[in-house]
This record gives sequence, structure tokens and C-alpha cells, in this order.
Amino acid sequence: MYEGNYLAQRLRASSSDGAERVFAKKLDGSVISYQAFFDGAEAYAKALILKGLKPNDRVAVQADKSVEALQLYIGTILAGGVFLPLNTAYTTSEVSYFIEDASPSIFVCDSVNHAELKTIAENLGVLAVETLDANGSGSLSDLAKGMKSEPFEVVPRTADDLASFLYTSGTTGRSKGAMLTHENLWINADTLKDYWHFSQSDVLIHALPIFHIHGLFVAINTTLAAGSSIIFMPSYDAEKILELMPEATVLMGVPTFYVRLLAQAGLTKASVSNMRLFVSGSAPLLAETHVKWQEQTGTAILERYGMTETNMNTSNPYDGDRRPGTVGLPLPSVEVIITDPSTGEKLPTGEVGSIEVRGPNVFKGYWNMPEKTKEELRDNGFFITGDLGMIDDRGYVSIIGRSKDLIITGGYNVYPKEIELLIDDLDGVVESAVIGIPHADFGEAVTAVIVAESDATLSEADIKQALSTDIAKFKQPKQVFFVDELPRNTMGKVQKNVLRDTYSS
Ligand code: AMP
Repeated sequence: MYEGNYLAQRLRASSSDGAERVFAKKLDGSVISYQAFFDGAEAYAKALILKGLKPNDRVAVQADKSVEALQLYIGTILAGGVFLPLNTAYTTSEVSYFIEDASPSIFVCDSVNHAELKTIAENLGVLAVETLDANGSGSLSDLAKGMKSEPFEVVPRTADDLASFLYTSGTTGRSKGAMLTHENLWINADTLKDYWHFSQSDVLIHALPIFHIHGLFVAINTTLAAGSSIIFMPSYDAEKILELMPEATVLMGVPTFYVRLLAQAGLTKASVSNMRLFVSGSAPLLAETHVKWQEQTGTAILERYGMTETNMNTSNPYDGDRRPGTVGLPLPSVEVIITDPSTGEKLPTGEVGSIEVRGPNVFKGYWNMPEKTKEELRDNGFFITGDLGMIDDRGYVSIIGRSKDLIITGGYNVYPKEIELLIDDLDGVVESAVIGIPHADFGEAVTAVIVAESDATLSEADIKQALSTDIAKFKQPKQVFFVDELPRNTMGKVQKNVLRDTYSS
């Protein structure tokens, strides 16, 4: 089925044997079969083509999570287009930047923002501005429904053609559009399906947003590649997830999912007895969360590491040792090396440096940014991830932080993670973020921002005192601030740029 379209053909293969298989179950109990899902995706493909989509054109989408939005993703692929999902939290001015930068031929948004965005998008040359709402209604879905019975022929695409184009989350600097090919997406889905033992009998609780690689490619492409099912949740709800676990087998989440689940009284060994896999990624999972989860449920969370530009790079093993605080081993066909950030030379086992990756999962470059692409994607195929880390003697990769978060104080390098781990271990501390802020003498001053437990009576002096014997003086925070919570983006990442802006002034 869908022969000639590299990705679509492969994503359909495990569910095209004619059997009546369930793709998605919604919380109201309604069920969408694979046949109905792909019929709907084809209808979206026809609607997009009718609206003027040509092969390789971008379809930019800022829509709430719905099964229809997933059909629009697959519909774009079937129509030979390039899917460009946008974070629903983006403001009008951010969306304008993305439209101007990506020049999509079609833009889809919800009906509330339609009037305002239509004018902006049309002025920027977009051919059609359509709507799709959380309940699956809208001008594009109406058009698609009306075209269900029309004949459809899949648009051919090769392994090297673009399938998606995703803006990086931009926690450091301006968002860049990462260009991902049909092969990039397929290889990763196929690898994860095998590595994490996905089969047709799996049921994944899908509670992640779908504008990001995690919820879209890791969760949906892997599900499609295996012919598994999802339980479709419009958003995260810990209590509901607990209720759904007896009919599910896998959960994929960001670390906050697990922290909040741990706060549920009903989370016990019995409550997870039907679940075979809990995956965490997109932000660091505290070793403490890993340990608590294991104690409370008897299962070990599997932590993996990836990014917009590369999909997944490493994963803790399915059968072997899932080691807290590490992101596991390089996935099959992915090479991971650690290099000296200043010289690019490969570093020996155990040394901290720049994490670089190479493999069929690595993107084609940044849209409209040849210079940036050249800086980060080496001629030999290695991508400089911007993460700092190390590989131990068993081959496990640990992430120490982002290179842009590295603090240079008085000429010395300070890895914030080292200090954060020490602070997090102190009694009364929930979590911390360590940043560098401009300092007249030192260049940057190590600064700690701490969330304390509500009944803790910690002061700046207590923190400084507690760290005074553990680490060299240049690593010790010069200032300590207490906050109620750390600023995070929707994928659970601490926004250190926001903290730096706040405390620099
Ligand atoms: P994004 O492109 O939004 O997926 O962000 C990718 C970045 O998230 C990576 O470069 C890492 O800095 C971070 N990240 C992803 N997974 C993990 C993980 N398991 N542990 C720590 N950081 C992670």
C-alpha cells in the first residue's frame, strides 16, 4: 500500500493485512480503526492537494491535539508535503516569524485565531489558511470529509525527500527549522519499534503534545510502525493515566509525568501490572525519581535521549541494566562520540565534552540557515548536538548539560549539573537550576535558583555553607535565590534563558 511514498508505505505495512485493527481509542470509549484512520488521512491529502499543495510544499499547523490533527500529519506525507507542526503556546508574533521563515503553502490553525492569522498568513504569501479545532471540526476537516469518496493516488516520495520540518524548542536563542527526511523518520521509528519490543498487541497511553518529536514521531511513528494502538488523551492527567494503566502496556512521558504520577496514592505495583514499559525523555529524569519509581512500582523507567535534529540517539536497554542518571547506549546504526569543544578532537572514555552523533537519523540541516548548518553539522556527518556529556566504560552516555549553559567564571569551566546534583541532595530542597550571570570580575558568576520544600527554612547562607567543603571555591554559588517553581517549557525543560534574563538584571 502507498507504494512509491517511502515513509507512508512503511508506516502502513504493519497494519495493512486486512485485519480490523484499532489505531486509537478515545477517552469517551469511541474507537478509530487503522482503516478509518488512513481513510481520513487520505481525505486530508486530497483536501490539501485541492487547496494547491505541491510536492515538497510545507503545511504549517498550529492546532490543538486531536486524532484529526494526526490524520493531517499523515495526510501531508501522503500528499508529498512537508509537515510543520507549531507549538500551540506560540503567540501571533512568533507564528508570523515561522510563517515568514518557512513560507508554507498551507497554514492550519484553530478557529479562534483564524481571522487574525489569516490576514497575516495571506500577506506572507500562504495560499490557503484553514481551520482545525480540538474537536476535529473546522474548514479543512469539512473539506476532507466531503472528499472521502473521491479516488486517491499517493504522491511518490523518496527516502531523501523532506517529510517534516520542525522548529527547535529555542530554549537558547532563535528557533531553527530542522529538516527531516522520510528516511530520518522511518529509520528511527523502525529502530525504536525493535529496540523497545513494540508489537501489534501494545497499547500506548498517548498524553504528550503532538507538535514535538516526542509525541509525534517517537510515539506515533513507532506505534504505526508496529501496528500497535494508542489511548488518545487530549492532555496529561495523572489520575486518568492511573485509571487507564490496566488496559495499556506502554507510557511515554517527560520526567514531570513521572514526578506527578509518583504523587498519586494509587500508584502501586498492582496498578502497573499490565504495563510493560515506561519511557522518559526530552529532559533529564532525576536519579531520585528513577529510584522512587522503582521502589513504588517495581519497574525501572527507561530513559532515552534525542532531539529535534536527530530523533532518538541513545536509549537505556530494554532487557539490560537501566541506569539512573544515564541516557543509555547508542541506538543501532547511531554513532555517539565525545569531543573536545574547542578542538573537535575525540576524547577518551570517561571525559566530559561535546556530544556528537552520526547516523541515518541525523537531519539534513537547518532551513534557510546554511551557515548555522555548517557550524553544527560536520562534513564527516557528525552533528554537534550542543549537549555536553560523557561515555563510561560500559558505553552508557550521561548528559552533563547544554554547552550554552556551561558557566565560565574567572576562566574556569563550571558544569551546572555538578552543582545542581549537590544542591538537590540537600535536605529541604526540591530542585535547583544553576546559571551563570554576568559579573564584572569573573565574567560570569555561579548563581543558584532553588525550589525548597514548603516547610523548609533554608537560607542563602545555609546553601553556601553546605557546599563549602564539597566543591572548589570557583564552583560555589556567589548568589542563591529561592523561587516557588522553575520556569519550564511545555516539554518540561527548565528555561535557563528565562532565569538568566531575570537574574542578570
Ligand atoms: P528537543 O529538540 O526539544 O527535543 O530538545 C532536545 C534536547 O533535550 C537535547 O539536546 C537535550 O539537551 C535534552 N534532552 C532530551 N532527552 C534528554 C534526557 N533524557 N536527559 C537530558 N536531556 C535530554
